[in-house]
Amino acid sequence: MRKTNRNKRRMTPPKGPTGAIVAIVILAVALLGLYFAIEYNRDSQEVSYATFLDLVEQDQVKTIRASGQDLYGVLNDGSRFTTVIASTDAVWEVLRDHNVDMILDSPSSQFSLWYLALLLSLLFMVWMGWMFLRQLRGGGGSGGGGGGPGNIFSMGKSKAKMFLPSEIKESFESVAGAEEAKEDLKDIIDFLKDPKKFEEIGAEVTRGILLIGEPGNGKTLLARAVAGEANCPFFTISGSDFIEVFVGVGASRVRDLFNQARAHAPAIIFIDEIDAVGRHRGKGTGGGHDEREQTLNQLLTEMDGFKVHDKPVIIIAATNRPDVLDKALLRPGRFDRTVNVPYPDLISREEILKLHAKGVKISPDVDMEKIARGTPGFSGASLKNLINEAAIHASKQDKKIVDVDDFEEARDKILLGKASKTIRLTEEDRKITAYHEAGHALVRLMRPKTSDPLHKVTIVPRGKALGVTAWLPEREKYNETEHELYTSILSALGGRVAEEIACDAITTGAYSDFQAANDIAYRMVCFYGMSPLGPVIYQLNDYGQRWYSEDTSKKIDEQIRVLLDRAHNETKEILVSNRDKLNKLADALLDKETMYAKEIYPLLGIEPRQEHSLS
Ligand code: ADP
Ligand code: ZN
Repeated sequence: MRKTNRNKRRMTPPKGPTGAIVAIVILAVALLGLYFAIEYNRDSQEVSYATFLDLVEQDQVKTIRASGQDLYGVLNDGSRFTTVIASTDAVWEVLRDHNVDMILDSPSSQFSLWYLALLLSLLFMVWMGWMFLRQLRGGGGSGGGGGGPGNIFSMGKSKAKMFLPSEIKESFESVAGAEEAKEDLKDIIDFLKDPKKFEEIGAEVTRGILLIGEPGNGKTLLARAVAGEANCPFFTISGSDFIEVFVGVGASRVRDLFNQARAHAPAIIFIDEIDAVGRHRGKGTGGGHDEREQTLNQLLTEMDGFKVHDKPVIIIAATNRPDVLDKALLRPGRFDRTVNVPYPDLISREEILKLHAKGVKISPDVDMEKIARGTPGFSGASLKNLINEAAIHASKQDKKIVDVDDFEEARDKILLGKASKTIRLTEEDRKITAYHEAGHALVRLMRPKTSDPLHKVTIVPRGKALGVTAWLPEREKYNETEHELYTSILSALGGRVAEEIACDAITTGAYSDFQAANDIAYRMVCFYGMSPLGPVIYQLNDYGQRWYSEDTSKKIDEQIRVLLDRAHNETKEILVSNRDKLNKLADALLDKETMYAKEIYPLLGIEPRQEHSLS
């Protein structure tokens, strides 16, 4: 991929509390007051009393303003001065004799602007203190929440949202695929429906369930579906919502949440991103960790606290980082059951697609199985998005139904970003981009055994990329070989190397390629034991410190360097010895802008490989 330099970092807008805005306004006014107070005295020269009298005698003084003994004045030429006068009335007479305009302030107002600034700052501090106390009492969320529309109301105290059973539309039917996860959750539903039955037999039932999986794979959906199936209220909060600047707030929010849930039991509490609170407790790292630790401790206490059988509260937590969780969370009686929510496999993808395709007018030639085959690595959320994007694309073209082309375009958009209408390339830029992308593609085409099949190459700018080379896995990937990783490095370097050998100048466009290559090389050396350093994992610990020596650190750098140098040379060899193919592909790209794999194979005389087109 070749990228533009325009790496705008998007700022997330500040979340909610109107209190923060009030604080900013007060602070701004206070600073403004201070500014004017200072401004008032700026540019004015301090003169001695004697000089001042001389100036008056020479009729140079136009106006003066006196506040107590401080005197500010303006000369006829407009320049300002200040002086301190002796407290004699004599001076007024002299001034009157020389027709100087006089404004006399009472001494108390002399620092009025300073006072204003001071007062506002004080007000600000009082307000901060008040907020702090409010938070400590568990008052939380200044102005936030407060009964959203419909029946969803948010509890000001814990920031959690509560949904009554009548508001929960999800059931297991809303979750496509995910059979194992559903199976794992069934007895929880039985328990919530009829806790007595379990009690009579004396069966202990889990209180906490940990859903593990990457974002978008349906963890939240599953949790809501459990509530829907069990017909019980659902409390939802994100781990990060517990954490505030003030120590003790998180803990009081946890307490509050559990109290609310108990009052509505049987109920489900869903804590999304539990890793935000649930990371290992540090050993005296102090400072910012205190708040999180207190919150975590409170959570553990609450979980140990309920043994009430007829009024169960089940806690479902979600994370994609189970590795960082404090082991205490996973002990019996806490989150002692984990349920995996992985990326959907082929069959699940087809089911998810079919589920979300309901209500969308889709052409009969669209085969959902083919689409499922062509979308390995897509999460449930991206599959839903795929259908939606395809529908949007179709309606933009005034079509009545969504066809395969719309799905192709939607998939490319999700995989590669939207085609850019704003980036216009110069001829020189187009040429460099064409060689760059041809370089990426050709390296892979020359190493078919360790590379996924090529999908397409384009020099139509997409997203921030000036050009894109895309390949699609032939199958579900659960593992990658060393050679596959190495080919990925070669292919990443292929862009820049093609620029080196075919163009007059090299460009910054290879930056993200280098990042990718470096990242793979780093992982090979440090995580996968694919270097002479052997099968040791060189990973930073939770506090970002390395446990290995300075010397080892140097060796790691060296190995990464060796790997990348070797890859760079090899990439160069591949492209130089296939220079004719490189030129052919680049020329074709300049001509057609987008080339699909099936056009490239005959062009270069390479044996075609199967890839999953959607049609
Ligand atoms: P997570 O909590 O794991 O990040 P979500 O539950 O928020 O994921 O999933 C986002 C959306 O993706 C869901 O609202 C749903 O529309 C869709 N989705 C994800 N997985 C599935 C699935 N297995 N079946 C149907 N829809 C799904
Ligand atoms: Zn590139």
